[in-house]
Parts: sequence; C-alpha cells; structure tokens
Amino acid sequence: MMPSFYDEGMLVAVLTTQPLDRALDYKAPEGGCHLGAFVEVPLGPRKVLGVVWRPGKGDYDYAKVRSVLRVLDAAPMRDEMRAFLEKAAAYTLTPMPAMLRLATRAPGLGDPPSMRKVYRRGPDEPDRMTDARRRVLDFLSEYGDLSFTLKELAELSGVTSSVIKGLVKQGAVAEEDSPRDLPFPPMDPSRPGKALTEDQARAAGHIAQAVQSGAYGTTLLRGVTGSGKTEVYLEAVAACLKAGRQALVLLPEIALTAEFLKRVEERFGARPAEWHSGATMTERRRIWKMVGQGQAQLVIGARSALFLPYQNLGLIVVDEEHDTSYKQEDGVLYNARDMAVLRASMLGAQVVLASATPSLESWANAESGKYTRLDLEARFGPAVMPTMRTIDMRAEKLQSNRWVSEELKRAVEARLEAGEQAMLFLNRRGYAPITLCRACGHQVGCDQCDARMVEHRFLKRLMCHQCGETKPMPTVCPSCEAEDRMAPVGPGVERLGEEAVELFPDARVAVLSSDMYGSARALKAEIEQIAEGGADVIIGTQLVAKGHNFPNLTLVGVIDADLGLQGSDLRAAERTFQLMRQVAGRAGRAEKPGTAMLQTYQPEHPVIRAILAGDEEGFWRAEAAQREAAGVPPYGRMAGIILSGPDVAQVFDAANALARNAGALQRVGAQVFGPAPAPIARIRGRHRVRLLVKAGKGVALQGAIAQWVGQLRLKGDLRLAVDIDPQSFY
Ligand code: ADP
Ligand code: ZN
Repeated sequence: MMPSFYDEGMLVAVLTTQPLDRALDYKAPEGGCHLGAFVEVPLGPRKVLGVVWRPGKGDYDYAKVRSVLRVLDAAPMRDEMRAFLEKAAAYTLTPMPAMLRLATRAPGLGDPPSMRKVYRRGPDEPDRMTDARRRVLDFLSEYGDLSFTLKELAELSGVTSSVIKGLVKQGAVAEEDSPRDLPFPPMDPSRPGKALTEDQARAAGHIAQAVQSGAYGTTLLRGVTGSGKTEVYLEAVAACLKAGRQALVLLPEIALTAEFLKRVEERFGARPAEWHSGATMTERRRIWKMVGQGQAQLVIGARSALFLPYQNLGLIVVDEEHDTSYKQEDGVLYNARDMAVLRASMLGAQVVLASATPSLESWANAESGKYTRLDLEARFGPAVMPTMRTIDMRAEKLQSNRWVSEELKRAVEARLEAGEQAMLFLNRRGYAPITLCRACGHQVGCDQCDARMVEHRFLKRLMCHQCGETKPMPTVCPSCEAEDRMAPVGPGVERLGEEAVELFPDARVAVLSSDMYGSARALKAEIEQIAEGGADVIIGTQLVAKGHNFPNLTLVGVIDADLGLQGSDLRAAERTFQLMRQVAGRAGRAEKPGTAMLQTYQPEHPVIRAILAGDEEGFWRAEAAQREAAGVPPYGRMAGIILSGPDVAQVFDAANALARNAGALQRVGAQVFGPAPAPIARIRGRHRVRLLVKAGKGVALQGAIAQWVGQLRLKGDLRLAVDIDPQSFY
C-alpha cells in the first residue's frame, strides 16, 4: 500500500502532461498533499500540470529536488483512475503523459472557481412599487430561497434587467457572487419509463439486475434499428442512478444527440451533462469538476468522456458499438469500446454494447460466453423492417454524369406524390472525388499527401480529405496549362444533390454532409428540421446512417452499394454489411413501411446477398469462419507500426532495421510483415511506411512490441506510432 498523504518535504513522484519518459520527484508542498492530487510543478522555467502518482524515488540529490508549487482545487485522482490509465497505456502502448493529457482535457483545472452574479430576494422593500417590480418580487418569493442569473430573472419575470438593477439598489433584491461550476440538476430515476414490450422488459430486467449486482459484466444488446434498444438501456441507466452510481452513455456522432437528449430529459426530468468537442471550455471544466465530485450523475458523451474522473461509475453504455469513430485514429490510438470494457472491469461496473449490427469482435465475444447477449427481435409498434431490393446497374443505361437509375427515380417520385420523404445515400463528401484535366489527364492531388483533392463546390475549393488542406479550384491545368479544361469526375453528395434537383424539380432537396455546416450545432438543427419535414429528398453521407429518426422517411436509395467492397481492408465486408443495414434501417420507422433499394454492379456478391437476405447470423458465421481460417482478428492479434518522416530513405532504413531485428517478436511467436509504403504513402509531407505484426490470440503482444520498437533510436524528425488492433489500414 502506498501512503495516501505526504507531509511537507516528503518526496513524491509527479506525472506531468509533458513528454517525459517518467514521473519526476518533487517535494510535497507546505500543508502536504494527497496521493493523486492535481498539482502544479516547476519544469525548467515553466509551470506544468501534474498528478502525484506515487512516492518519490529518491535517486536524486534531495537538496536539489524542487517543491510542488501548489495543489490545485480539484478532487485528487482516484486510485482506480490511476490504475485504469496505466492499464490503458500498457494496452495501447501509449506513453503515460499522453494518457494524462486525455484525462485532463478541460481548461483551467487549477483556476479558482470562477464566479458570476446571482440574484435572490433581499431584506428590504422598494420605496415605490410598480407592476414590473411586483412581478419580480412575486416571482422570487414564489421560489423561496432560489437565486437566478440576471438574464434568467429578467426573462422569467418578464421585465428588463434595469428593473432588477433598480431593486438591487433598494435592497429588495440581493446581488451575490456564486461559483460558475454549478452541480448538474439531479436526475429522477423513479419517473416511469415507457411501458415495455415483453422482449424489451426481459432485456431491461436482465441488465438492471446486473447493474444492481455491483459486479462487472458486459452485455451485447442487439436489435434492429427501432426495436427499442434505447428504451431498454435507459432502464439500465435508471437502475444505476437508483443504486446511487454514475452512468455514462457514449454516442458515436455528437451531431445526433439533440433527439437523444430530449428523450433523456423526458425520462429523468433533467438534462444530463453533455461532453464533446463542441462544448464550451467553461462547460467542459464544469463537467470535469462535477463528475469528479459526483454532482453529474449522467454523462452523454463522445469517446473521450471515458476519461472523465468519475467518482462512482456503475454503467457504461456504448451505443452503436460497431461504429468506427470509437477508434481514435490520431494522438492516442485507443478503441473507446474496448477501453470501456477495461474500465468497467476494474470498477465492478456494467457495460452495455448496443447495436443493430454488432462488430464481429463483440459477436465473437458473445459466442464464446465472454459477453451476455440479449436480442430484441422486432421493431417497436407497427414499424417493420424495410423491404430490401437491389437494382442491377449493369442493366441500366445511365447518361454520363448521372447516378440515379430510372427505377430509383420512379420510386422517389412515388414517395413524393404520397407526401413522404426519400433519402439518397452516398458515402462521399464533396462535389466530385476527382478533378481531372481533359487535355492531359492530370488529376489534381494534394501537395502534402498522396491523395487526390476533392472538389467541394459548396466551399468553392478543392480539399484534401487526409490533411484538410484546401486550394481554389484551378481554371488552368497545373500540369499542361490548358485553360478551362478542368472537369469533375464521379459523384459526391453535392453533385448528387444537383442531379436530384434536376430530377425532382418540385421537391425540396437537402444535402446533409458534416462539412457543409459551420458547427455541430448548426448541423444538429438542420437534421432536426429535416426530420420534422423540412425536406422531401435528403441526400446524405454516412452521417445520416446513424441513429436519427426520420419518421416520414419511407425510401432509402443507396447510390453505390459496392463502394465499401472495394479495397483489401480486412473489415470491408463487415463494414459494408453494417452500413447498408444501418442506412436501410432509416426507412419506415413510424407507421409507414419502408423500402431500401441498393444500386449495385455485383448483385451476386455474397455480401450484397447477405444484406438482402437479412440473414445476420449466417453472415457473421461465414465472416467469422473466414477470419478464423486466416488467423486474423478477432481470432488472431494484429498491430500496425507506422514510421513516418520527411525523408523517405530514412524512413525505409529505420523500418528495414526494425524488420531485421525482430527477435523480441519471434520469441513470442509473432510474425512481422513489411515494410511497405502505407496505402496513403504521404500525409502532410511525411512519408509513411507500415509494418504489420500478426500473432496468435493468446500472445502477450504488447510487451514484445514494446521491447522490439524500443531498440530503435528515433533520429531527427522520424516518428513511430503503434496501433494495437488496427481498425483501418491507411
Ligand atoms: P433503437 O434504439 O433500437 O433504434 P428506440 O429505443 O429508439 O430503438 O425505439 C424506436 C422508437 O420506438 C422510439 O421512438 C421509441 O420511443 C419507440 N418505442 C420503443 N419501445 C417503446 C415502448 N415500449 N413504448 C413506446 N414507445 C416505444
Ligand atoms: Zn493533404
């Protein structure tokens, strides 16, 4: 056991967010400090944030050891959180300082609580009573001792703020300073939820009981879109809140939370804490602090919400658990779904993984009995799964630069006549994926990356989807200098939008793509407005496949069902299956039955057939058998190593050196493949080379990889990233 308190002058090892390879010794400050305390320490000429991680090592001249500058006003990091960060770091081979940065993603943690003015009933009476003054005082006495901000009070009592200021001068209203980081309003788990169907009640009861047990467990909650998974896991949240523990719901796409937040508010009578990149800095700090003090009971958030300092977390729901956005692909490479399971297992908490189309990983874990599996078979109420059909594009004669087949066009027209909505789905942002010179064939690429520039007509620029670099659309070919010969090739959602406007001149067409809205908020508002009937034809990227209800949508047309099947990605089949089922699931959510039409050039492809047949178990079994035979995840282990640097020869030299000296891997029976140029061989001017490590399922891969890459001295600007369980190979 480590001592939990350190008196002034005792040595403590402080982990900082700075890129150092170990925690440094400091002397505990005046007044001492707790293990886990958030502190400010001197580092060279700077002051940096750190956490008291363990007792100091004492391997340095005591006289020269510097003191902790101050202990910050925040609850110390709990033992469990420190242990979780260490395990997560060991699993993902991430340096601890980067882990700590993830856990402290809120600004001004060390600042004293910021204050704001609030107003309540004061001791005196005003010299003269007016109608407006009367309203304010009546309102305040109605609420007893509660206080309000100036804006709230003015709005709620229907007066201008000068009326309130006048009352303050007279002592009838008291003006006080109050901390800005207010607790979140309590959730009321005893409010009744919806009356559940038998299926739903069985699933909800099972999970609620697991939550009450206070033990760890993971449940895979599978059910088609609209079957009531959300209703079921909200019951689990209620059970968790009733048990006095905190709950976390992770959602993949924060733009889709508006509808969800409304449901939560209806269910529990208060708004939960909402953690995501779009939240203001003040709000982030408030959530971070209140979560740590147990004064935020329910957090709805993006993946990084997993690293908040919960006081007593009892349940983590990972909604749409198969979603690829749970895998962080830059900075720390972690999969929030897997880290949720890790964190819960260390806490005695429950995990619910909800999906209509689970990842093969989770499916296999349920098969092997590691997870409990619960199924919801039918859609709720009269809604039924959409009818699925393919449109064989080989038989269609499309004009050039047209992508909507005659059959799909007629189907859309029928919906428009019936006053219903139709969606055209294309998983390609922008106007056209290729911009080409018709004189010389030159394709405009990014200067920094080995990637084509994609035209975004809406932004009036070309954009690189790798690095985000943009440039104006050239009028002269950058290669042969021919004038006015640059032409778009292929469809993106914006171009499809143009086609839809021409095909359906009387319809209101809306294009939904994440890059077309200035902010997540604007996008959210737009989705809501469309769901309420603000458009007849919706053109969307995969953004629309996720979670949002469009009650009047009865037709989904997939423009290119083959898109995801191209390429050699290990998960191409799985992803296409999931995405197509998910998109199709958007249709027919309310009383009206839906149809999904898939345009394809390969209707016989086994994946396309599996999608149509809706034989999910069959698909998973076949996919699992193939992966098992190939010894790849989830039946084998993989890690990707990406070396990058500005000098291609240097990058290859280093990669070759690694490949030659793989003794540490061979000793555990792992194999190395490569080096090879990465599929995107250059990003932001850095050349990229990949190595792939494969091993059997039981192999303790991380230790061997750490030892192996540890031999390499990274010279100059060379960088190495390890991706354990890579999800994509780019
Ligand atoms: P999923 O999360 O599986 O997509 P939801 O929980 O969102 O499904 O349910 C789909 C729709 O059906 C929602 O509008 C939901 O409120 C409604 N619904 C589901 N179950 C019930 C129920 N037992 N009673 C009333 N409405 C329900
Ligand atoms: Zn680029």
